[in-house]
Amino acid sequence: MQSPSIHSFSTRAIHGGHQTLASSNPMITPIYQSTTFAQKEVGENAQHTYSRASNPTVAALESAIAALEQTQHSVCFATGMSATTALLLALLGPGDEVVCSDVVYGGTSRLLREVLEPIGIKAAFVDTSKTMEVARALTARTKLVFLETPANPTLKLSDIAAISTLTRERNIPLAVDNTFLTPLLQDCTSLGADIVLYSTTKYFDGHNATVGGAICTNGEALADKLRDLRKTLGLNQKPFEAWLTLQGIQTLPLRIHRQCDSASELATWLADHPLVERVIYPNLPSHPQFELAQRQQETGGALIAFELRGGLASAKRFVSSLRLVTLAENLGSGQSIATHPASMTHSDIPDHEARTLGISPGLIRFSVGLESANDLRHDLAQSLESIGNYSREKGENCHD
Ligand SMILES: *Cc1c(COP(=O)(O)O)cnc(C)c1O
Repeated sequence: MQSPSIHSFSTRAIHGGHQTLASSNPMITPIYQSTTFAQKEVGENAQHTYSRASNPTVAALESAIAALEQTQHSVCFATGMSATTALLLALLGPGDEVVCSDVVYGGTSRLLREVLEPIGIKAAFVDTSKTMEVARALTARTKLVFLETPANPTLKLSDIAAISTLTRERNIPLAVDNTFLTPLLQDCTSLGADIVLYSTTKYFDGHNATVGGAICTNGEALADKLRDLRKTLGLNQKPFEAWLTLQGIQTLPLRIHRQCDSASELATWLADHPLVERVIYPNLPSHPQFELAQRQQETGGALIAFELRGGLASAKRFVSSLRLVTLAENLGSGQSIATHPASMTHSDIPDHEARTLGISPGLIRFSVGLESANDLRHDLAQSLESIGNYSREKGENCHD
């Protein structure tokens, strides 16, 4: 539980979550690698009894994340997907509907289509970048609106404040997956969200070392329900992962600011490159929702999406020619990562649907890391050049 803090975000990132034993004075929360916790007597209402239900290191991570989000509760999970699973099961049952952004993390879409739909929970995937489409999709059965903004991988934005006006009128909870920006860059609850969800795997950890998830809310009943589901389904975070994530959080503001600065510089550079069809970056005036980005988020973030001329062939050539940037399925770490969403994170979405959503074969998602922006630019440049050389050898024209 957090009371509003007098300290700035950077200070909270260092001091927010530390809980230590009174008998010794470690500077950081220890790893409580213990299945169970001794109880003094029958009927004792112990804070921690069994690590599937709760664990002191995980509890420290929860208070750290709540201190950054400035919510009463934060409940941590083994992965971002287990957080999403618990949230959907907490709020929806057979016959209920969730209105969900049409562009979302691939796993979220898979969970809704392949696991929840067959048990009677219906998802309406709508273009939440158009608030009117959300209004149109709400029915008497809607029990949750779930937004991802910026959305993975096309960085489409949804207007949290405008949508929260709709959901509040109808008493429908509004959840935002804020994984791409973290509470440092987008304050979802102030904008009107009731629930904020994170894959801590990404920026909170920031070192490619863990998987984890968290849900933040001021709703006591919801937090209790999430903890119950976590215990029953076995979805809790592990102490070592929680401990690593606690270390990551201390440098979260430093890392993200640096990554955003580099991303902004590289997005501008990419936009001028002849082999790049278009760059999607919320802080570029060419982003269709530039004005919303200025209003809703602190910076453009540290992810860039861009589409290469020449489609799939160019994308393949590009990612295999990168030397510094790694082809992988993660984002938010100090190591820069390139992902080819159409064949990797979003490969389960049928082709025609993916194209309609903007997940085209030439699309690259680029997570800008902590390397020097100059070195990253050189790597992108040499890799783009290899596409040019290749297509010249083949007598193709990438500029078409
Ligand atoms: C990675 C990710 C998730 C899922 O998190 P995991 O920790 O991989 O389970 C959910 N939402 C977004 C936006 C993500 O990027």
